[in-house]
Amino acid sequence: MSAEATGPVSPGAPRKRVRSRLDLRRLGRVAMRGSAARDRLPDAIGHVVEAHRAHHPDASQEALDALRRAYVLAESSHRGQMRKSGEPYITHPLAVTLILAQLGAETTTLVASLLHDTVEDTDVTLDQVREGFGEEVCYLVDGVTKVEKIDYGAAAEPETFRKMLVATGNDVRVMSIKLADRLHNMRTLGVMRPEKQARIAKVTRDVLIPLAERLGVQALKTELEDLVFAILHPEEYAKTRALIAENERGRNPLAAIADDVRQVLREADIEAEVLIRRRHFVSVHRVRMKRGELRGADFGRLLVLVNEDADCYGVLGELHTCFTPVVSEFKDFIAVPKFNLYQSLHTAVVGRDGGDVAEVLIRTHQMHKVAEAGVVALGNPYAQAASEEPAPDGERADPTRPGWLSRLLDWQQAAPDPDTFWSSLREELAQDREITVYRADGGTLGLPAGATCVDAAYAQYGEGAHFCIGVRVNDRLTTLSTALRDGDTVQILLAPRETGSGPDAEWLDHARTPAARIAIKSWFAAHPDGLEAPESAEPRPGLTVAGARHSAANAVVDLPGASVRLAGCCTPVPPDAVIGFAVRGNVVTVHREGCPAVGRMAALGRGPVGVRWVDSAQCRVTLTAESFGRPHLLADLTEAIAVEGVAIVSATVEPPTEGRVRHTYTLQLPDAARLPGLMRAMRKVAGVYDVSRAQHRAAATS
Ligand code: MN
Repeated sequence: MSAEATGPVSPGAPRKRVRSRLDLRRLGRVAMRGSAARDRLPDAIGHVVEAHRAHHPDASQEALDALRRAYVLAESSHRGQMRKSGEPYITHPLAVTLILAQLGAETTTLVASLLHDTVEDTDVTLDQVREGFGEEVCYLVDGVTKVEKIDYGAAAEPETFRKMLVATGNDVRVMSIKLADRLHNMRTLGVMRPEKQARIAKVTRDVLIPLAERLGVQALKTELEDLVFAILHPEEYAKTRALIAENERGRNPLAAIADDVRQVLREADIEAEVLIRRRHFVSVHRVRMKRGELRGADFGRLLVLVNEDADCYGVLGELHTCFTPVVSEFKDFIAVPKFNLYQSLHTAVVGRDGGDVAEVLIRTHQMHKVAEAGVVALGNPYAQAASEEPAPDGERADPTRPGWLSRLLDWQQAAPDPDTFWSSLREELAQDREITVYRADGGTLGLPAGATCVDAAYAQYGEGAHFCIGVRVNDRLTTLSTALRDGDTVQILLAPRETGSGPDAEWLDHARTPAARIAIKSWFAAHPDGLEAPESAEPRPGLTVAGARHSAANAVVDLPGASVRLAGCCTPVPPDAVIGFAVRGNVVTVHREGCPAVGRMAALGRGPVGVRWVDSAQCRVTLTAESFGRPHLLADLTEAIAVEGVAIVSATVEPPTEGRVRHTYTLQLPDAARLPGLMRAMRKVAGVYDVSRAQHRAAATS
């Protein structure tokens, strides 16, 4: 069975065995059993070797010896350590290594993976690893080793990720190990306190899953998604599980369509495997969100595997000739591949007895391996790079150093502090995910993650959105700058054309989609008189605009003489490194230097304006605290804030969903340097699992 079909909890009904090579969970369990008893430990590494040989039949004896030696060192150095579950610690590096072996990772990755926690958690030193296993293994182990909490305190997690990403820039295998490590930790998260589970699940959702997606490791990504789903959305998860279990009891309409497809391809003399792949839980949930009621055929997809690239199009031709295709579902990810190595043809056809629509994926066996394992299946990237033709330019030129990773490594250098790095990283990684929002008047809108109400307005009404005067999200009035989340319901409020005043130039700051940006820019091109300063542009004492690029900002302009607005997307506070952009006449929006909006502003041709803090004694910041709901939570949080000597300007408490609540506080700090301490104090309040600086300004309903 493919990994996409596995969920964290088996629905119970017997499943068809589709494909066994990538059944991570089954092998993970074998590893655990094999290693549970001391006298059977050698079996455990035997499983790793077996899995490794299945992908690399020509693995040298020397390589297999290195695996055994690494196991012996890891086992002896972790001996006596227990996981929280009570199992011997060695079960963890073993399970992680099995995951990677199953995905076809090469030997060096597996050796490093066996040793990945030794330097962090035992007396083994990097020098010993280098001596015993060489420079590459040492580099990989160092790459996944956490920075010391003693040195970094609360910044340890962001700094660990920063270190890991920099190491990944030189050797992508660092991230392969980290992803497998996180998968095993997520599988065994049940023993942790609920706050800790939720906190780890959120980081997995915001950072690890997008990284797995971008590196093309579908098998890890889908299982991580299901594990996160179960923790962060327990009610939706239970509902989805019940739906899947119910569906498995009935007739599977995909089976009949698969039989018909096999027959068609046999008659066309195309050699192909036709398989039924169950969707993973999150995928079922997404389909339900998109289409409402689910039908039997929605619980899975057909996967057609062929030998040659050309056969993919042959299969497509036969399917579109012999079945009724759903043309809107056709996507060619072979001619136009995604950024993450993924290649396949996607289509959907109507079954012969009418009614049931089957989604079909068509790919070669090689494409399938890459789709499941991504960069993990690349083998040793350096050995390959040396032997291959120079790659073409673009995102896919070097799969081990993709364009997004280079850009990320560039801006992280400019991130002045761990907090900026962390929030920018999460924002950056959120950018190419898709969300679906519901129109209050029916229908849905597909938008990129991070899209705001401005984007939704233009997606729904085109130029009609110029006369938008407000928006309700989930029945609550809010600002147009509000970022939308998957599943939100949006109601755009329009003024009659004759009374509407047209867009506010600030909307450009909040437009993520080209459609919205182009429409707004063309409005201003046609209405140059619409550029008067908005009422909302409050002067901000404490900022100096210095810069010669923009006429209004020539020489030094001390505020409140000029209109400076702190960007809602990154809420800069002293002493953040900041950069300003003249958005019109004499208004300058100020972003933190690491904010992704800076790149977008530059792309819009906005000239940067130099800005600096002149008085860092006072600062205002918006913080979001995510918590499990409980009595007295609000009182405890506000007390923690007061104890830190911080004034609350406004507070918003959203209604609880699935037992979680989100509090948003706008706070006045006597001194910006107190921010990290304040955030730490808030995180210590019982039930709180995350405190972060708001990505977008708080809802207007405070
Ligand atoms: Mn680990």
